[in-house]
Amino acid sequence: MTTILVDVDGVCADFKSEALRIIKTYSGYEDFEDNHTWDFLPHDENVMNYLWQNIHADKLLPYPNDIEAIELLQNLGDVLFVTSPAPTPMWMPERTEWLVKRYNISAEDVCNFSKKQYVYGDVIIEDNTNNLSKHMKRWHSIGLLINQSYNQGFVMDIPTFSRRASVLDAAQYLQEILNRAPCIGE
Ligand SMILES: [Mg+2]
Repeated sequence: MTTILVDVDGVCADFKSEALRIIKTYSGYEDFEDNHTWDFLPHDENVMNYLWQNIHADKLLPYPNDIEAIELLQNLGDVLFVTSPAPTPMWMPERTEWLVKRYNISAEDVCNFSKKQYVYGDVIIEDNTNNLSKHMKRWHSIGLLINQSYNQGFVMDIPTFSRRASVLDAAQYLQEILNRAPCIGE
């Protein structure tokens, strides 16, 4: 069975838009600009404390066609959501509950963990190039990078890497790969 790791922020749910919306409600940050890099959050302890106090994992908007994408992935293998916790106490329970309800999964299918390279998977679907490349190097996994403004510069010239437009695009692409080589995984 193929094991498929799916990231959440920037893959299934739009963390960045909600973070920017909250930051812009902080006094003096109304005109805060997105710099289109991974490091887009302000280096200001007060505003970051305000962000973590006000952002909730169960209030992020999902990207279009996410449910269809996850259903397709579930037909292709074992899907495990691997998601880095944010530094706020309710993040992990809110995230887990949101995933369980939205994708009709078990809480056991959710791994709240940052060092994703230590989680085994045949496939990883990510927007974070650092997590993606570390995982691919460790497990020789198929790495599907979800296209975002902040990961544009990243290239990897190996056939197991592919940049995809959305999680549904990634799922459909994986379906094509597995149709050609159905024995990926144990
Ligand atoms: Mg992410």
